[in-house]
Amino acid sequence: MKNIAIIGSTGSIGTQTLEVVRANDDLKVIALAAGNNVELLEKQVREFKPVYACMSSEQKAKELRERLSDMPVKVLCGMEGLLEIAVIPEVEILVTAIMGMIGIRPTIAAIEAGKDIALANKETLVTAGHIIMPLAKEKNVKILPVDSEHSAIFQSLQGEKREQVSKLLLTASGGPFRGRKREDLVNIQVEDALKHPNWAMGRKITIDSSTLVNKGLEVIEAKWLFGVELEQIEVVVHPQSVIHSMVEYKDGAVIAQLGTPDMKLPIQYALYYPDRKFLAGERLNFAQLGTMTFEKPDMETFRGLALALESSKAGGSMPTVYNAANELAVAKFLDRKIKYLEIVEIIETCMKSHKIIENPSVDEILEVEKSVYEMIESRW
Ligand code: NDP
Repeated sequence: MKNIAIIGSTGSIGTQTLEVVRANDDLKVIALAAGNNVELLEKQVREFKPVYACMSSEQKAKELRERLSDMPVKVLCGMEGLLEIAVIPEVEILVTAIMGMIGIRPTIAAIEAGKDIALANKETLVTAGHIIMPLAKEKNVKILPVDSEHSAIFQSLQGEKREQVSKLLLTASGGPFRGRKREDLVNIQVEDALKHPNWAMGRKITIDSSTLVNKGLEVIEAKWLFGVELEQIEVVVHPQSVIHSMVEYKDGAVIAQLGTPDMKLPIQYALYYPDRKFLAGERLNFAQLGTMTFEKPDMETFRGLALALESSKAGGSMPTVYNAANELAVAKFLDRKIKYLEIVEIIETCMKSHKIIENPSVDEILEVEKSVYEMIESRW
């Protein structure tokens, strides 16, 4: 039996993680944490019977406690609750399915307590990778990627020598606006940007996929996860999303992982690594697939990707600015407060006015996030 905890259990990755748990009788859920969705967390607690449940606010926690008064579950709340969940002694793996930089502290607390991390929450690595990766090494903890591209790279690295890798080829679908130019994007509405061609995901990451900011975050995530230089990562647009990513070795061999677009595969692989287990679902049918195509990303139209590379090159606190500005700008776009193209304009403006802090601590990262938010709120 493997004991797991999930922070962000009511979201897209969280619910799919629970689907994996449902299909396997050797995974036990010890704790579940959500933001505001009391109704779904109540259902999840009744089905999976965790020892702990956590809501983002005291008010929501109170509501959950009342709804679950017939159950023995301990209901926690806020950051304190997330930190308590991160260190529960009997938990082996923490699944970080939470959205945004709120995942930094619980992830660090779990690593310090020796838990392996099934990491979906890429924002944490983008902003605090320089703290998390050395800490994980020191504590002998595994950071198991859940992001499908990173899982594909991780799978393509098995049995190989890291020093023989020449580059990582990160595939991208190109999003719903592939092939369009900047002037075609002026009047994009929330509904247009929420239509991803191949994957069904949470709202924020779907918008990020349309701007290619998601790919930018993934490049930075890959740099930290696999300990390569930024220049060793190449983004390849592959609209069919069949190849989930690839690794090129010194001798020119390219090893890839392919599959139908189903996040349950990388989630299950992270939970059972290094084992593979049966997973129900569609298999690839190559004859039906016919062709696979590849293109270079259009970094002029999709400046979000170019800015990610710039932020990573600049280093220090700059990726935090990139990420924090994007998080708030996307929230504002989803609230219809700004226009689509303003998302990337906001990121660029925030990056231009930032004075880099080298090697920022967690407190400094969170300070930078706050000051970026203040700047955006004062101007947009
Ligand atoms: P969703 O928006 O679908 O889910 C986010 C989850 O986080 C929800 O359970 C939400 O709770 C919870 N949450 C938000 N704020 C808090 C808080 N303050 N305290 C506790 N829980 C909170 O996001 P996704 O599942 O799409 O993405 C999650 C992470 O995984 C992101 O970092 C994303 O980049 C990454 N990822 C996602 C992929 C996907 O296919 N969706 C693929 C690869 C990576 P509630 O809904 O109850 O408010």
